[in-house]
Parts: sequence; C-alpha cells; structure tokens
Amino acid sequence: MSTKKLKSTARFGARYGTKIKTRVLEIEKKQKQPFNCPKCGFPKVKRKSRGIFRCRKCGAVFAGGAYVPETLTGSIIKKMVSQKTFVPALKELIEATEKTKHGLEEIPAKARQEKTAEKRQKHDSGSKGKESVV
Ligand SMILES: [Zn+2]
Repeated sequence: MSTKKLKSTARFGARYGTKIKTRVLEIEKKQKQPFNCPKCGFPKVKRKSRGIFRCRKCGAVFAGGAYVPETLTGSIIKKMVSQKTFVPALKELIEATEKTKHGLEEIPAKARQEKTAEKRQKHDSGSKGKESVV
C-alpha cells in the first residue's frame, strides 16, 4: 500500500500525523538504499537492528549509525581514532555539527551585525553632520 505523498509510511494509515510520517519517510528512504559492504564491496548491506548492519553476501556484521551504516559524525570520529589526532579533528567535528544545526541561523545573525554596523555609521554621520553645522 502506498500513496503519492506518504509512500512507505502509508502503512500507518490515518495515525500519528503528517509531520512525524514525513520524518520517518526521510529516514526510510536512506535506510532502503543499497549500501556497499566494507569487507567484500558488494551492495548487499542491510540493517539488522538499531546500529547493527549485516552483509547478505559475505555475512559480515558491523556497527554503524542508527539507521545508516555510516554517518558524518561517525566518519569524523573514525578518522580521529585512526590518526590519533583528537584536538584538530574535534574542532572540525564541532564546526560540522554547528553548520548542520545552526546553518540557517547564521545568516540572520550576520545580517543583524551588519544592520547594527549600519546604524552606528548612520549615528556617527549624523553627529558629524551636527558638528559641521555647529
Ligand atoms: Zn560483504
């Protein structure tokens, strides 16, 4: 059973609300993609349980993200552990998470700063104008 909008989440029927169902759909789309096995390279990896993935070709079982075998955060931490350089990579991790979390909030903050700068300039020019008049 599938519909135009809800697709695989149509199985829930009229329950749980649209917003939650669209979020589930977003995750299920990623989950159902074929993932390549880290051992044999065949796209036969399936999610077995939360964070556990199994290759259907060679039978390799490995840990990963809750819904996807490899996440952005997980890959950065993997790099940190393999290179044994924790501090520089930690900065990168913080930057990456901030970008994903506050990516939309950064622009208005900058705009605000520019606006305040403009106001200051206007104020300064106004005072200068007064000074020139006096
Ligand atoms: Zn495999």
